[in-house]
Amino acid sequence: MHIEPIQAFEDNYIWALRGKGPAGQVALVDPGEATPVLRYLERSRERLCAILVTHRHGDHTGGIAELLARYPVPVYGPALEAADIVTHPLTDGARLVLPALGIEFEVMHLPGHTLGHIAYYRPGMLFCGDTLFGAGCGRVFEGTLEQMHASLARIAALPSATQIYCAHEYTQSCLRFARLVEPDNPAIAARIDYVDRLRAASEPSVPAKLTEELATNPFLRWDSPAVIAAATARLGHAPATHAETFAAIRIWRDTL
Ligand SMILES: [Zn+2]
Repeated sequence: MHIEPIQAFEDNYIWALRGKGPAGQVALVDPGEATPVLRYLERSRERLCAILVTHRHGDHTGGIAELLARYPVPVYGPALEAADIVTHPLTDGARLVLPALGIEFEVMHLPGHTLGHIAYYRPGMLFCGDTLFGAGCGRVFEGTLEQMHASLARIAALPSATQIYCAHEYTQSCLRFARLVEPDNPAIAARIDYVDRLRAASEPSVPAKLTEELATNPFLRWDSPAVIAAATARLGHAPATHAETFAAIRIWRDTL
């Protein structure tokens, strides 16, 4: 499968997917804006065949109405939200088959950022919307911190070679927080160098492999002694659970 980022707004990525199906068909993940997508389709001479939505926020769905006016395609998305937009609601464990691309995904319900948030998994890749970012994670707007931790734990348990396709270019600022949490983690220092070089060349810093996230992302490192020590310092006592460690780090990030 061929995957390309289409840049939208300041720092959103709309992912364009081309599969093994008939040439010229493309599916989109989270088209928050129509104009860059229409430009992309014009340039590549491709036809839109499906839209996949991870959650209802406007910067992930705002372009859909305009795209549908031009391409009346199915809109796959969470069963628990965006009912006005989604034509094919999906729940946890559902299989999404896209015959035009010759590919299929497994749906993961990952509440936390929003309550209905879903992600699309197939071996080797996860389209996770605003749940996990490069070295960071989404704000917990609707769910509880425990729910977000459980969602991130499901991602952490995927095969470590999985590429994480998130929806935002936030990696640089997330890494600076990661360094604050774990100043002595050499993997974070190395990733800062690497991502700074990519961004200086206007290259996307995502996707990254799950292994890389497990080594550098403070929101997946609740069992690292350094992260537990940072959480302990924030809480004033040792966290009793991984979820409590995660929560202390997430709340710290929100205060900055
Ligand atoms: Zn969002």
